[in-house]
Amino acid sequence: MTSAVGTAGATVGQAEVLRVADLRVQFRTPQGIVKAVDGVSFTLHEGERFGLVGESGSGKSTTALAIMRMIRPPGRIAGGQISLGERELIGLSEEQFRQVRLAEIAMVPQGAMNSLNPVRRIRDHFKDSIRAHERGATDTQIKDRIAELLPLVGLREEAADLYPHELSGGMKQRVCIALSIVLQPRVIIADEPTSALDVVVQRQVMQTLETVQERLGAAVILVGHDMGLLAQFVDRLGVMYAGKLVEIAPIKELLRDPLHPYSQLLIASLPTLEERGVFRGVPGLPPSLLHPPGGCLFHPRCPKRLPQCSVEAPPLREIRPGHWAACHLY
Ligand code: SF4
Repeated sequence: MTSAVGTAGATVGQAEVLRVADLRVQFRTPQGIVKAVDGVSFTLHEGERFGLVGESGSGKSTTALAIMRMIRPPGRIAGGQISLGERELIGLSEEQFRQVRLAEIAMVPQGAMNSLNPVRRIRDHFKDSIRAHERGATDTQIKDRIAELLPLVGLREEAADLYPHELSGGMKQRVCIALSIVLQPRVIIADEPTSALDVVVQRQVMQTLETVQERLGAAVILVGHDMGLLAQFVDRLGVMYAGKLVEIAPIKELLRDPLHPYSQLLIASLPTLEERGVFRGVPGLPPSLLHPPGGCLFHPRCPKRLPQCSVEAPPLREIRPGHWAACHLY
C-alpha cells in the first residue's frame, strides 16, 4: 500500500505500515471533559523510526496507548482511525485485537520495573507471550526463541532463569524489548523506554532498540520528552503540544529549520544539536486541557503571535514537501 498526501506526515511513494487519522482521546473528569489527544494524524512507513516528542501532558504517551488500545476508563477513544496496513484497529473486538497485539504491533512499556511480574522468571514471561499466540509452541521451541532473543538485546541466555529483581533496570528494559519482538511485529512502539535509567544505560537501551529494529526491519514509534535522545534515533519527528501535533518533519530538517514557534523554542533550548538535552526554557505553562484557550493553543506563550492566533485554530498543513506545521505564520 502506498500513501498519498491526505494524512499529516504522509510521504508519497513510501510503503505505509500504520496510519493514524484524526485520533481523539478524551477523559471524563468531575470538572469536565479533558481532550488529551485532539485530532492527531500521522503515518508511519515500513522500517521507519518516527518520534513523538512533547512535554508532560502533551498527549504523546496517550497517543501511543491509544494505538495499542490500552486507554482505560475514565479515558476513551472518542474518534478517528488507526489503520495497520489494510486493517482498521479501533473497530476490532478485544479478541481480534489480542491477535494483533504482539504479533503485528508491540509496545515496549515506560516502566520496565513495573511491567514484569516479580514472581515469574524471565523464561516464564517469554512462555506466556509466545503461548498466548502460539498455543502449541513446545518448550524446546520456546527455549530456542529465548536463546536467539536474549543475546540480540545484549543479555546472556542464562538471564532467562532469573527473576526480575535479580536484573538491573537496564537489563529489565532489554528483556522488555526482547519480549516485544518475540513474534516479530511490524511496528514497535517504545514509550519513554529509557525513563528512570541513567545516561549510560539510556544509551545502551537505545542501541539495543536500534539493533533490534534493524534486524527485524520493523517500524518504530519512539515517544519521549528528551529531544536530544530522540534526535539521535529517529528519521522523522512529530512535535506535540496540548494534545495536538503542531509540526512533523524529517529530523535533520526540523533541527535545522523548525517552523512552529514552539519547536523553535524547544530546539533553541538544547545545549547543542548533537548533545542530549531535555525540554526547558519555554516561557509560561502548558494550557489547561479542561479549559483550553481559544484559537491556537500555544498563543498565550507564543512570542510570534498574530491577531488571529487567539481566535482561529491553525490546521496542520504541509508547508514544504514532507514538512508540516500548524501555525498562522505560514
Ligand atoms: Fe504562534 Fe500564532 Fe503560530 Fe500559534 S498560530 S504558534 S500563536 S504564530
